[in-house]
Amino acid sequence: MAKRKKIVIANWKMNLTVPESTVLIEKLKKEISGNLQLEVAVCPSFVDIYSASAELKNSKISIGAQNVAEEEKGSYTGEVSVLALKGFVKYILVGHSERRNIFGENDKVVAGKAETVVRHDMTPVICVGETLHEREDKLSKIVVLSQLEASCKQLTAEEISESIIAYEPVWAIGTGHVCLPEEAEKIAADIRGLIKSLYGEKAARLVHILYGGSVTAKTAKDFRYAKNIDGLLVGGASLDHHEFAAIVKNFSSEKKPKKGRK
Ligand code: PEP
Repeated sequence: MAKRKKIVIANWKMNLTVPESTVLIEKLKKEISGNLQLEVAVCPSFVDIYSASAELKNSKISIGAQNVAEEEKGSYTGEVSVLALKGFVKYILVGHSERRNIFGENDKVVAGKAETVVRHDMTPVICVGETLHEREDKLSKIVVLSQLEASCKQLTAEEISESIIAYEPVWAIGTGHVCLPEEAEKIAADIRGLIKSLYGEKAARLVHILYGGSVTAKTAKDFRYAKNIDGLLVGGASLDHHEFAAIVKNFSSEKKPKKGRK
């Protein structure tokens, strides 16, 4: 029976030049090696993907893209197509809150991007999350689930089974306010519940769910026992090689100790 694996993905956003990413990659390769029990990926900027893929060849680290065009090809000045990324990346983030809130991408666009990615045999990381206002108005669950349903609309049950959903509360991204693991777990369970009702039990069992939002090495530990959280999406803290390697280590470590044992 297929089983979910643990995944930690770094989102470098627009923070590094190509030489800076090369330096970071060299350091990460030294720190993240050996018999890893989980999948690790980094999402450099588009301009860096080509060299990063050569630098990470034969390493334990995969590559993701931070975004992709909805269309496959054509007159879309400044966009990067799924065809250009094919062969270089394994994962593609779609609907990151910065894309939604700064660049006005709506659920329809995100759904189109997710479809484009899966049809080209890459894994979409479909990001959803509520704003601070929505959270204060106790709308977190309803906002997240309606974003998710609309963003996955064009995927089949089999495609959703092979996708990743990242729960990233907007109020936690880059703010230092990490969501409590119990709160994130509750939303992750709601996400899995929605996938079950829309796509069936198998898809709900197989889909991977990540948490993202101000994760550090210290807080990464707290998410590893959350039943419905399979991984982490890490922004700011992934720019520091020691910190990111410690996040990977802390998230991947051993099973929950039995009750009563220290
Ligand atoms: C992100 O942008 O996906 C993210 C999780 O950022 P940070 O870790 O900096 O909050």
